[in-house]
Amino acid sequence: MPERRYREVRSRSELMLLPPCVDDYVSEHNPVRAIDAFVGTLDLEELDFRHAEEHCGAGQPAYDPRLLLKLYLYGYQHRVRSSRRLEAETRRNLEVIWLCQGATPSYKTIADFRKDNASALRAANREFILLCRELSLLECRRVAVDGTFLKANANADSIHTKASLGKGLKRLDEKIAEYHRLLDEADAGSEDGGDSGEDPELAAKIEALVERRKHKQSLQERLQASEENQISEVDPDARVLRKSGKAVGGYNCQIAVDDRYKLIVAEDVVQDGNDAGQLEPMMTKAGEAMGAERLIGLADSGYFSGEQLKSCEDKGLDVYVPIPRPPPPRRGKGDVMRFSRDDDFRYDARNDTYVCPAGQRLTRRGSPRIREGKRYFRYSSVTAVCRDCSLRDRCLTKAQSRRRLARWEHEDVIDRHRTKMSASAPWVRQRATLVEHPFGTIKRWAGMDHFLMRGLDKCRGEFSLMTLGYNFKRVMNELGADAFREHCLQKRRTGTVTA
Ligand code: SF4
Repeated sequence: MPERRYREVRSRSELMLLPPCVDDYVSEHNPVRAIDAFVGTLDLEELDFRHAEEHCGAGQPAYDPRLLLKLYLYGYQHRVRSSRRLEAETRRNLEVIWLCQGATPSYKTIADFRKDNASALRAANREFILLCRELSLLECRRVAVDGTFLKANANADSIHTKASLGKGLKRLDEKIAEYHRLLDEADAGSEDGGDSGEDPELAAKIEALVERRKHKQSLQERLQASEENQISEVDPDARVLRKSGKAVGGYNCQIAVDDRYKLIVAEDVVQDGNDAGQLEPMMTKAGEAMGAERLIGLADSGYFSGEQLKSCEDKGLDVYVPIPRPPPPRRGKGDVMRFSRDDDFRYDARNDTYVCPAGQRLTRRGSPRIREGKRYFRYSSVTAVCRDCSLRDRCLTKAQSRRRLARWEHEDVIDRHRTKMSASAPWVRQRATLVEHPFGTIKRWAGMDHFLMRGLDKCRGEFSLMTLGYNFKRVMNELGADAFREHCLQKRRTGTVTA
C-alpha cells in the first residue's frame, strides 16, 4: 500500500504569503467595498458624529469616525457586536484590515464611539433609507408595523415595581423577625445554664438583612417620589415588560417595514409594555423616511386603539388593524347571555340614538363622563318600556330597571374602521410575513435579542445599528454589492442623486 498523502500546505516561514498590497486582500465585488463607499457618501459632521469636525484642538489625534462607523457596520452584519471582539477583528480579519486601512483602535475607543454617537447613528440609518429611495428599493405604499421585546443589559431582578418592593420588604421583615426569635431563644437557653445552640453567624446574618432592607426601603422611597411605576438599578431606563404571560426586563423595539424588499424604514425603542400607543408615531416616522404622503399601514390587534385610529385618520394615514374580540358578554342569572352593545344594539348616527333588539330607542342623556382621559356620552332606555319587554331577562340584570350604554365621542372612527376591515383586501393578511422576516433575522440569525448598551438613548442608537446592519445585508442580496457601490461612488463624485 502507498504511504498516506495529504494536500500540500504552505510553510509558515514562507515569505509573501499574503499579497503585497492591502487592496488585493479583498476582491472587487466584496461587500466591504460597498460599506466603504456608503460611509464615503455621508457627511459625518452634519450628522453630528463626534470628532467629525474639520478643526480640532491640541493633543493626540482621534480616530476618524468614518473608520469606526465602517467597523461597526461590518460587525453588525457579521454577528460581531462586542467592542473587544471588534478590536480583535481589526488585527486578524483581512476584510476589516482593508476596511480600517490597518488601524487598530482599542476596544475602549470602539465602545466609546457607539456610546457617544447614539443620535448620529440614528441619523446615519436615515441616510441609508434615503439612499434606498434613490435606488428605487422602496415601494413607499404599504408598511407593516410591529414590535418586539429585546432584553436590557441588566438582570430582570434589578428592575422593581411598587408591588415587588412591597413584597420584598415584607419577606425581609419576616426573615429578620425569625432570626431575632432564634436569637432570643438562644439567650434564654444560655441563661438557664444549658447549651444556647446559637448560630455564631446569626448576628452577622441579621445585619446583612437589615442592610438589604435599608436598600430596598430607599428604592421604594425613590420610586414613590418619582412619577414612574418601576425603578431599575442597573439600566435606569429598562422596564419589566409583559406579553403572552412572559416577562422580559428590557425595551419595546418598534419597526415599520416596506413591503417591497422588507427593508426597515423606521425604527424606535420605547419603554411601554404594549403597542397600543405606537401606531401613529411609527406610521408618521415611516412616512417621513420614505417621503410618502399617502401610506397604508398594517398592524396586529395589539396596536388597536381608538385614539391611535383617530390620529391616523386625522393625518391621512390609512391603517388596517384587526379589532380585538371584546371580552365575553356578561351573563345574567341562570346563565342567560345578555345583549352586548356591539353585537345586539345598532347605532343610528342620523338620530344619535341606539336601537335595542326590541326596537326601543336609547337616547342620549345627562352630561358626558370622562374615563381614562376619554369623553363618553351616555344613552339609556325608558324604564316603563323595559318593564314590559319580553326580552328583559336577556338584557337586564335583576337590579337594573333600564339599559344604559356609553359611547366614546369619536366612536364613529371605530365604526368606519370596522366597516373598512370587513371589506379589506387579502393583502391585509400579509402583515405577519412582512414583519416576521426582519425580526427573525435580527433576533434568531444575528443573535441580537439583547442590548449591549444601557439607557434609552444609547439603546436607540444601538437598535439603529441593528436595523442598519439588517438593511445593508438585504440591499446586498437584492441589488448586489457592485450596483450599490457604483451608485455611492457616483453620488460622491458628482454630489448628485441618480436612481
Ligand atoms: S329591556 Fe329595554 S333595552 Fe332591553 S331589549 Fe327590552 S326594551 Fe330594549
